[in-house]
Amino acid sequence: MKGMEYAILRQGLGVKRLSEDACGPWYFCVLVKHPSFGYFLYDAGVGPADDTFRRPESHMQYGLLSIPREEYLDKALPAIGVSLHEIKAIVISHCHWDHIGGLSFFKGTQAIRNVYVPRDDFKHGLFQSHRTAKGYMEPCDFYYKWNFDVEGAEFHMIEDDVELFPDVEFKLLKGHTPGTLAMILHLENRVVIFPSDTIPRSENYKDPENRIHPTTIDVEAFRESVRIVKTLQKKYNADIIFPHDDGFYTGYTARFEK
Ligand SMILES: [Zn+2]
Repeated sequence: MKGMEYAILRQGLGVKRLSEDACGPWYFCVLVKHPSFGYFLYDAGVGPADDTFRRPESHMQYGLLSIPREEYLDKALPAIGVSLHEIKAIVISHCHWDHIGGLSFFKGTQAIRNVYVPRDDFKHGLFQSHRTAKGYMEPCDFYYKWNFDVEGAEFHMIEDDVELFPDVEFKLLKGHTPGTLAMILHLENRVVIFPSDTIPRSENYKDPENRIHPTTIDVEAFRESVRIVKTLQKKYNADIIFPHDDGFYTGYTARFEK
């Protein structure tokens, strides 16, 4: 679509990986400037204090420990010239903490009433996070009660593949959760696919037989998701942006791309 642009807002830059097998440090969300709809976000990133006291001590090995304050969305959005009040909707790829945590920055905005989630993952995350008094499971499964119970939040369920906004498709992929939303942006001159954590790193995409990411809950479903994305990549000659690849980002500044 003519005039559609996106910017990647990264969190956790400059922090070392914990181990070879851990997710890369590059939590991110995508801000989309849509010519007819306006601004929307794909994922909300980490929430306030997710790098300190908001996550249980025993879970801190599954994620990074220090995120510079300016990389949280309430600072990162204004830094790129967009107010939190200008965001009209937030599409959550899946409800793991590093994708939904930032919702709490949007209390009192129009976006909090327009949160889209994949139904099967949302149901699973609610079930897991609301069955204990403490609001999470051991060992860590990445769902926390407080990330769902955000004041004013209205969640809209996505049950099928859908073109939610003109030239912006969302596709349900299994493997990392019971259903994670991939985003396909049809820009003016190219197509970009964001598979989210279903395919966290390029190595998982290149060699799905042998390189299985440790956060995969269903290996066969993951391999099927890779086949689906490979078909789409071929069809559109698309670029793919993997959420947990590392490298390349020293000195990164968010900017709009066409
Ligand atoms: Zn995840």
